[in-house]
Amino acid sequence: MSNWQVDSWRQKPILQQPEYDDAAQLKQVEHTLSTYPPLVFAAEARDLRRQLGEVSLGKGFLLQGGDCAESFDEFNAPKIRDTFKVLLQMAIVLTFAGRCPVTKVARMAGQYAKPRSSNFETRNGVTLPSYRGDIINSFEFNEAARRPDPNRLIEAYHRSASTLNLLRAFSQGGLADLHEVNRWNMAFVENNPLKERYHDMAVRIQDTLSFMDVIGINSQSSPTLHETSLFTSHEALLLNYEQALTRIDTLTGKPYDCSAHMIWIGERTRQLDHAHIEFFRGIHNPIGVKVGPSMEEDELIRLIDALNPNNDPGRLTLITRMGADNLADNLPRLLRRVKAEGRHVVWSSDPMHGNTFSASSGYKTRNFDAILREIKQFFQAHNDEGTHAGGIHLEMTGQHVTECTGGAYEISDEDLAQAYKTQCDPRLNADQVLEMAFLVADHLRN
Ligand code: PEP
Ligand code: MN
Repeated sequence: MSNWQVDSWRQKPILQQPEYDDAAQLKQVEHTLSTYPPLVFAAEARDLRRQLGEVSLGKGFLLQGGDCAESFDEFNAPKIRDTFKVLLQMAIVLTFAGRCPVTKVARMAGQYAKPRSSNFETRNGVTLPSYRGDIINSFEFNEAARRPDPNRLIEAYHRSASTLNLLRAFSQGGLADLHEVNRWNMAFVENNPLKERYHDMAVRIQDTLSFMDVIGINSQSSPTLHETSLFTSHEALLLNYEQALTRIDTLTGKPYDCSAHMIWIGERTRQLDHAHIEFFRGIHNPIGVKVGPSMEEDELIRLIDALNPNNDPGRLTLITRMGADNLADNLPRLLRRVKAEGRHVVWSSDPMHGNTFSASSGYKTRNFDAILREIKQFFQAHNDEGTHAGGIHLEMTGQHVTECTGGAYEISDEDLAQAYKTQCDPRLNADQVLEMAFLVADHLRN
């Protein structure tokens, strides 16, 4: 890797960063973190990269989801458990419908740094620095809270470690048993106002599991029915943190960012000659890049070449976030070009970030139908171009929040105030996101 070093990004321009008052303190924190154990093991990241390689070749599907921003305040076992559960519930439906393995990647255990559209926020005539995620400053609106604090990097590390610990326990300790997961799905369907729409598939999954049981394929004989693997991911925006958690893998001698299995670059920080591309090109994790509607074909090829010069399937996931009204004009030209140039990528759809608007009640929201429309168009475009719709990337929670409008429970603008809890972007709630899985499943089947 020519001229790459773990800190070579520091020579490049960088956007969306906090300004710390105390450089010495930041340096001390970075040093401390660099002595701490890695959060993930490089071989796990390689396993994910291998699975994503299959996805890029059309033999799998990527399900990625979780909070827009994890929060230090809402840090507890029920919250982690509920998002874990709903991811598994979605995965069973998608696996069954798509007849292909579903790789599960949580936006969890490190999703703490946020890019913002403005550096400042004004409320009632008072202007303060914007909230940039709990790894940087606090959501509270006062001067002390909004000051970037280096100690938050250490705090984020410990919270990520506990979150990951619980996810690992849930994955292996019985909570992921497929029979159990399908029982939750049956309960969801029974209670849903649109239950006729979802009933058929839930019953067919149930019958399949019962049949397997009868012929002796059960949790005892097949551990895969009882356990699962769930990978972690976040936007690697704060490179001071990411650098400090980068380690040389003893098995391969290559650098891996051990803060998560997969990390991605946001839409606002993917400039070719900037710091994020520089850092990412040297680490060996599977990586993602957000791709918005303004992306030009030539620029995309240059980006792919910078990040995946060996054209290795599984290395690079392009997470498109076009907006339901812009997708048809912009995704097909990118799919055509990447296909024509023979580049291997996973194409995943983030149907959230291009469909955000302010509701009449003042809340930042997204509508269920627009999100679904973007996903449907994503599948359609891939179908037309002969490429593989490889995954979806959702902002979601297992809890019963009211942040996005629509869905079977018909959340309205007025309902948003009931349980609007996000510190950043609006998430699909447990019911909405499961409905989404059932509706996407229809597309995988067709
Ligand atoms: C996000 O995923 O929360 C995000 C900020 O997305 P984007 O980079 O696509 O705007
Ligand atoms: Mn977001």
